Amino acid sequence: MISEKIKRVIRDIHDFPKPGIIFKDVTPIFKDSVLCTEILDSFAARVGGWEIDVVAGIESRGFLFGLMLANRLGVPFIPVRKPGKLPFKTVSKSYELEYGAATIEIHQDAFEPGKKVLIHDDLLATGGTATATAQLVEELGGAVSGYCFVVGLDFLNGDERLRTFSPNIVTLTNY
Ligand code: AMP
Repeated sequence: MISEKIKRVIRDIHDFPKPGIIFKDVTPIFKDSVLCTEILDSFAARVGGWEIDVVAGIESRGFLFGLMLANRLGVPFIPVRKPGKLPFKTVSKSYELEYGAATIEIHQDAFEPGKKVLIHDDLLATGGTATATAQLVEELGGAVSGYCFVVGLDFLNGDERLRTFSPNIVTLTNY
């Protein structure tokens, strides 16, 4: 099962980036090309029935499978980035984190109004980042077709916030 294979390689890093957080280190996944292909195959199979015009990947680990998945689906990829990184005109959204706040940005011309956007990141925690991304998608006149993540931290109930924009949520492995 893909879930077990992913769990076998993910590393728990205690107290990173701050005390009390158990950071799920997904970087060992990228060393295993067979597993990467299986992850891509799983995403493609599970989002196969959704209407998707564009894949939006969230900086920075959401770029890795995000572009590959967009390519596999034959649709454009757009990056969702931290402030000051995108060179053209942007729209931005600030949101609350567990401690403090964060901002993300998207290019104003990232996609045409009416497009259906699949949001991807490596991990779903509180859902704050993906929710802010969904808000940006709607601000630009798009609709959220769904979300896909490699990892879901289910005990944080992030999926509840995401459902406001779309009920389609895929997480390949869960804690
Ligand atoms: P959130 O907005 O709370 O859903 O957080 C999601 C973003 O923060 C993703 O981009 C994750 O990569 C990162 N993140 C949050 N918590 C963790 C964690 N425990 N382990 C690894 N990454 C995390």
